[in-house]
Amino acid sequence: MTNDEMARQIADWIEFFRDLGFDEFYRGPELEALARNWSPAAGDKAMPEAIMPAPANAAGKTPEDVVAGISSGPVPEPHIPQSSPARLHIVPPRTSGAHSMSLFEAESPVPERRQQETLDQVMADLGDCHRCKLAGGRTHIVFGQGSPKAQLVFVGEGPGADEDEQGLPFVGRAGQLLNRMLQRVDIRREDVYICNVVKCRPPGNRTPEKDEIETCSPFLFRQIRAIQPRLICCLGMPAVRTVLGIKEGITRIHGRFYDFGTTKAMATVHPAYVLRNPREERILVEDFQKIRDFLLAR
Ligand code: URA
Repeated sequence: MTNDEMARQIADWIEFFRDLGFDEFYRGPELEALARNWSPAAGDKAMPEAIMPAPANAAGKTPEDVVAGISSGPVPEPHIPQSSPARLHIVPPRTSGAHSMSLFEAESPVPERRQQETLDQVMADLGDCHRCKLAGGRTHIVFGQGSPKAQLVFVGEGPGADEDEQGLPFVGRAGQLLNRMLQRVDIRREDVYICNVVKCRPPGNRTPEKDEIETCSPFLFRQIRAIQPRLICCLGMPAVRTVLGIKEGITRIHGRFYDFGTTKAMATVHPAYVLRNPREERILVEDFQKIRDFLLAR
């Protein structure tokens, strides 16, 4: 990665976390090393000012916590906002051409702080991506699917064979289980947004590797920032590690609500795991009920 690309990626991250309400940033050891060796090449932009060192955070957060968007200390109990700026209402099935807001769409979940990047803009920037080695084996990029105003965003691991073929997330067997879970709690698939940690199918459906996740996840975070959902649901461990920065096993942390800036995030088991371990379906069922309760609470 060139200095210029690195600076752009850092600036993207900072803007993303600013939108989530974080205003202090720290350099971790990697950035310290980068800054020490910083020698702008011709055409490179200067190191963004926003990554200059900041004083210790009064809330006692470590830099990693700040970047991961989670509080240090005990795992917070679910916090269900009592009032939400989002205006929601339950809507019968769409009839005429007029667009009506549905239960799980938000008109404006978070007050706009600046001109928001749109999903289309993120997609245009992604382009015909060849930034990592997954590009060579893909048929289609699986960018994501669903409502750009979704209150709920699902983050899976990466496309499988069916997704790669169709260019859409969760359309195979795991997707059918996800659909069933959504139906159980009266959430329409078209009202949520579904995407993955990586946008190209890993060979043989292996777990995405660190460099692939590091390359692709800035686009995931930009998608989340464009949507500004009230809740992010991580499906499986790669999503938990990427979004929440948590390494603890999913069977311990599933169903808990974490702060993710001004948004909440939670995790549940991946539907593919449930397909392999049908007795664990109750975990998905319980967690989807929690998701629904969260979205219905004001
Ligand atoms: N599994 C995932 O993690 N994502 C998909 O899109 C499909 C299956």
